[in-house]
Amino acid sequence: MKIICIGRNYADHAKEMNAALPTEPIYFLKPDTALLREGDFYYPNFTKDLHFECELVVKIDKVGKHIDPRFAHKYYSQFTLGIDFTARDLQQKCKEKGLPWEPAKGFDHSAPISTTWLDVKDYHFQELEFKFYQNEELRQIGRPKEFIFQIDELIAYVSKFITLKTGDLLFTGTPAGVGPVQIGDELRAEIDGKTLLQLSVK
Ligand code: MG
Repeated sequence: MKIICIGRNYADHAKEMNAALPTEPIYFLKPDTALLREGDFYYPNFTKDLHFECELVVKIDKVGKHIDPRFAHKYYSQFTLGIDFTARDLQQKCKEKGLPWEPAKGFDHSAPISTTWLDVKDYHFQELEFKFYQNEELRQIGRPKEFIFQIDELIAYVSKFITLKTGDLLFTGTPAGVGPVQIGDELRAEIDGKTLLQLSVK
């Protein structure tokens, strides 16, 4: 199982990161050891600036390579919410030196996801809205209609390079509002008022 993460898929987040708008999708991978399905999150000792990035996550449920965007919708049927934890200080160093992001993005438990999956057929992505709260303060609102690249385009693009397999996860990028977490924080993500993910930072 692999975790494919999309970068800069919302214009307002690209802006807050002082990053250019992508002309084609940007992706990177996290290893399966990044997954955190339950339990608390422990603040890693190699960063002093850990950021949350709440994201819509799609589960791939069919093997595919070179998927045509017209057929991409046949490759997923469920989605949920997750966090793409990012050691922003390490990422900044990697960016400055032109080095890979893995130390900043792919560390153990850097990808908590909800254990509750929602069926794509029950939702209209263009109307969907998810919210992320830090200590019950609203930090991020994500609307897939604001994606720069829609899910089908992302699947088509990534599958040009990598075979997608059943169980792979696609993190679709984070909206504006990312920020640092502190030990003691309570993090919560919801869709339509339904809490999907709840996490304590220890
Ligand atoms: Mg992200």
